[in-house]
Amino acid sequence: VTAKLLEEMPPIINTEVNEKVRLHCECLVLSDETLHDVCQTLNTELNRGLAKETNAEATIKCFPTFVQELPNGKESGRFLALDLGGTNFRVLLIELGEGKFAMDSKIYAVPHDIMVGHGTELFDHIAACMASFINERQLNDELLPLGFTFSFPCAQEGLTKARLARWTKGFKCAGVEGNDVVAMLKDAIARRQDVRIKICAVLNDTTGTLMSCAWKNHNCMIGLIVGTGTNACYMEKLEKVELWDGATDGPQQDFDSGFEGVIINTEWGAFGDNGCLDDIRVYCDHNIDKESINPGRQLFEKMISGMYMGEIARQVLVKLVDEGLIFENQNCDALKEKGQFFTKYISEIESDKPGDFSNCLSVLEDLGILDATPEDCASVRYVCEVVSRRAANLAGAGVAVLLNRIAQKKVTVAVDGSVYRFHPFFHDMMVEIIKRLVKPGIEFDLMLSEDGSGRGAALVAAVANRSAMERQQ
Ligand code: BGC
Ligand code: MG
Repeated sequence: VTAKLLEEMPPIINTEVNEKVRLHCECLVLSDETLHDVCQTLNTELNRGLAKETNAEATIKCFPTFVQELPNGKESGRFLALDLGGTNFRVLLIELGEGKFAMDSKIYAVPHDIMVGHGTELFDHIAACMASFINERQLNDELLPLGFTFSFPCAQEGLTKARLARWTKGFKCAGVEGNDVVAMLKDAIARRQDVRIKICAVLNDTTGTLMSCAWKNHNCMIGLIVGTGTNACYMEKLEKVELWDGATDGPQQDFDSGFEGVIINTEWGAFGDNGCLDDIRVYCDHNIDKESINPGRQLFEKMISGMYMGEIARQVLVKLVDEGLIFENQNCDALKEKGQFFTKYISEIESDKPGDFSNCLSVLEDLGILDATPEDCASVRYVCEVVSRRAANLAGAGVAVLLNRIAQKKVTVAVDGSVYRFHPFFHDMMVEIIKRLVKPGIEFDLMLSEDGSGRGAALVAAVANRSAMERQQ
């Protein structure tokens, strides 16, 4: 019933909000004209990333991936997948065969001291989790092919070689940047000597998301993540990818549609790192960046993704408290603490039916604010709407740029990530803005790619494994 109601409910911005609150939030509302400019700038930055001459200094790196083939349905066997870099670290076991798809998975914690410790410890931890997963299932005797989803910017040198360009999100392990993460994982496995693994592929989560959707839908040419971080990959025409000089075992794909291309991992999270988004970044963006683990980096990501969205809303709310516009005579100590307003609160608050503030009140209760007035609630909801809409508009502008570049009549965008999944209107808001920014004649749809980072990794590993076996015959 709730889902139905939400579907019928247009993603409207609450108009009955206090005028002073509305004025305060105006700097977070992006006009279509501004979004058009953002599109143009992003397009320029993508070109700089793709061109040989400018790639070194470009902020958007546009890494070619080495995924060469789509699954053909003939892959079979058991595959492992590792998924690192989202909300959770997971190990998955996937069984493929005769159209069958079975999956077993387990989530493991990555303790904070490991996220910011030494790289060797991180990979030892990953290997230990994998070993316990394998032991629990008594798979020790099998040589399992593995696909590794590593959701950070990497320069790939092959399907099983990826050098970490730099850490993003909450990770900062010493001794990994510049190194091949597959080699580091292999070393960690070798140190244990209790599991046998054949690493077949390393990939970004956007690529996994694209692949697991493209398996069934051959119009799928874009993979998008709006989760802890944000990023997109897309099919670029071969001749535009100067970094790819046409070696025979390169990443080019021959699609059914006759579209000859390469999947490019844009790493658009770094858009703006050269100052080109400074006109639209506001005080909360500056604060968040300053207090982050990677100041000056991933500025586009910091305006959009789940790791930061709650904190943006919190910064605005604290400003409103300081200006005496909300929560008069309420205890706002918890709200004033960094990180205390979770991104999931935004989804919860916006899931309230119009005029009903029950989720909003329970969030405020969590924060120790017990006597919020209806006007307070309307203001809180408004702040959430403005923040999530700005994120959806920016991500949507990014998708529109990619659709315009691909310039095919009908394109499916595979999407995954916690924000896209759990926010009640994120999908609708994105569709709305993309329609306004895309060139006439281009049709698109946004499709949830169920567990792209896990399933996609297994599929890519399966395809690589199948091709290797065919070559041996
Ligand atoms: C990473 C990307 C990743 C995205 C979504 C970003 O921080 O740089 O590689 O695809 O997060 O997980
Ligand atoms: Mg994921």
